[in-house]
Amino acid sequence: MVLRAPAAIATRPLREETRPTPEPGPTQAVVRVDCCGVCRTDLHVVVGDLPPVRSPIVPGHEIVGRVERIGSAVRTLAVGDRVGVPWLRRTCGACEFCASGRENLCDRKEFTGYSADGGYATHVLGEEGYVLPLPAGDAFRQAPFLCAGIIGYRALKAALPRPGGRIGFFGFGGSAHLTLQLAVRQGYEAVAYSRDDEHLELARRLGAAETVRTDDGSLERRRPTLDGAVVYAPAGEVVLQALREMKKGSTVAIAAIHMSPIPPIDYDRVLFGERKIVSVEANTRQDAREFLTLASRLKLESTVQVRELSEANEALIDLDRDAVVGTVVLDCRRDTPA
Ligand SMILES: [Zn+2]
Ligand SMILES: [Zn+2]
Repeated sequence: MVLRAPAAIATRPLREETRPTPEPGPTQAVVRVDCCGVCRTDLHVVVGDLPPVRSPIVPGHEIVGRVERIGSAVRTLAVGDRVGVPWLRRTCGACEFCASGRENLCDRKEFTGYSADGGYATHVLGEEGYVLPLPAGDAFRQAPFLCAGIIGYRALKAALPRPGGRIGFFGFGGSAHLTLQLAVRQGYEAVAYSRDDEHLELARRLGAAETVRTDDGSLERRRPTLDGAVVYAPAGEVVLQALREMKKGSTVAIAAIHMSPIPPIDYDRVLFGERKIVSVEANTRQDAREFLTLASRLKLESTVQVRELSEANEALIDLDRDAVVGTVVLDCRRDTPA
């Protein structure tokens, strides 16, 4: 499913195309895609909130599949391996950020489904070292781990590295539904905030100690109780909602690649007291390894809705209108000629 140029999602800008299966470069693997999760970042790419860096482009970066072919220099992957292909496609390994363990901030990093073709397809190319080995499991339930899970985990660490505190989740979509489980199972007390009852119901089922409607005026009557918060909604006003819930010395981490402007912040009332706002950009491979290990050990459960690959536009339309509970995962298995 190919995007020629960004356009409003209602125009269904992704079109099905048939192409030859890609050839791996020396350090690459061809991955036969079983399924690909639909992330909000894909929506930002398709509608142009993120400026195009390569056109046409195949979106998708929550990919689960099997290695079908490997390049001549690949040593750590073998044909048949079950793997995940995540958002972080490649880093330079040489810039000041790569050299200091912060490859997520690399100046020359590349992204799956943005700077190179992604997983809304039957095949995708991945780079050795960035393609992640996956434990046995249901591919459809693992797909959301590859971005929603890993980046949600990085955000959780940024907001409140020490389990045991009370942490708020603002914007209860694909990422929050995984990160909240992780938080609860590690001993945090989780509070979910949303304007959608269905999302809050899911949060309660997953172990939230408290759920709060953000659109019925109840926020105005509350006192700050949070030790940390993660904002997933791409709406600046939600950052203010979070700040009003934060105790002194706490951090709100923003796990969004794009956000509408944050309204003026009342410094005296909501920021003073050493409250911090920090954005989260992508993830390191270390984050990915830690999260995948935890997901497996703590038996995280993804809530998924499966759709056909050809329904990628419809999946993004649902995401745009907040009509997805959990994550939509595209079934990319096709009977393609060998
Ligand atoms: Zn770099
Ligand atoms: Zn993503």
